[in-house]
Amino acid sequence: MEDVEALHYQKKEEKKVECFLCPHRCVIQEGKTGLCGVRENREGTLYSNSYGRTVTINVDPVEKKPLYHFLPGSRILSIGPNGCTMTCRFCQNWNISQEKVPTRFLSPSSLADLAAERGCAGVAFTYTEPIIWFEYLIDTLPVLRERGIKSVMVTNGYINREPGLELAPMVDGFNIDLKGFNEEFYRKYCGAHLEPVRNFIEIAAEHSHVEVTNLIIPTLNDDMDEIEEMVIFLSGISRSIPLHFSRFFPQYRMDHLDSTPGETLSSAFDIAKRYLDYVYLGNIFIEGTDKTRCPSCGSVVIERGGYARNELNESGECPGCGKIIKGVWS
Ligand code: SF4
Repeated sequence: MEDVEALHYQKKEEKKVECFLCPHRCVIQEGKTGLCGVRENREGTLYSNSYGRTVTINVDPVEKKPLYHFLPGSRILSIGPNGCTMTCRFCQNWNISQEKVPTRFLSPSSLADLAAERGCAGVAFTYTEPIIWFEYLIDTLPVLRERGIKSVMVTNGYINREPGLELAPMVDGFNIDLKGFNEEFYRKYCGAHLEPVRNFIEIAAEHSHVEVTNLIIPTLNDDMDEIEEMVIFLSGISRSIPLHFSRFFPQYRMDHLDSTPGETLSSAFDIAKRYLDYVYLGNIFIEGTDKTRCPSCGSVVIERGGYARNELNESGECPGCGKIIKGVWS
């Protein structure tokens, strides 16, 4: 497969180019790549050198993404590019997001074929940062939709407004990582900024199904006032955005920190439940924090884990009171 010319960039003087895909807006000299490592200036033209090249192919339960309000119990084919727009010092996939590894090419139609062959309800663009696959996504998402295969993006949400508006309506579901609610934290530990992520959550929620994940890291982003500000922001978009707090385990450049204590996650859960209808804890088992309850009558409508059961019909109606639970159910 030939590399394809990138979208959302401008040619500049002396064969430089400026990429507008993400808020870094890299100005790239001839022969160099942008910060993500996959958008390359060749003789004054910007190319995507990762088009369709995936670092891994797995079939996962959709709950693992995590997406709890999206076809519960279904299998999802998961792929991802090599590279990222952020440099998180606590990255769980640093060996594929920050290092170069071998890849395998999947054309849009061969990806759809593979998902169908493996009995998957959808495809997840995940593991690293799928936004840097922008051109591949723009070609692939309509193919998946036409074949009745759902699409999911697990993303850091670091994209500029124009490409974000183009992408959001084409995707059936997002899990957006909101890494903290503090500009300094984003700058110091992720090499990025908070505001564009907030903006993209708003855009995505307007056009698609959105769930949000927040990894709580001891001493770095576990301030409860900040967590309250974050959930107030999310509830301003919609009380029905599912929020997943995830437990941190020491790794990469943050291997000197402890794992997140259960009490911290429980406190965050209690605060968030005051503002949001659906809050979950991940990477830890604390009774009651992985079930979906109807916010109206309190019935448990989805249980996960060993006793998995889904009481919702295809419209997402609560069998207890008829309230529609937000999500993608068919
Ligand atoms: S997508 Fe890559 S090249 Fe483009 S601005 Fe972002 S980091 Fe730079």
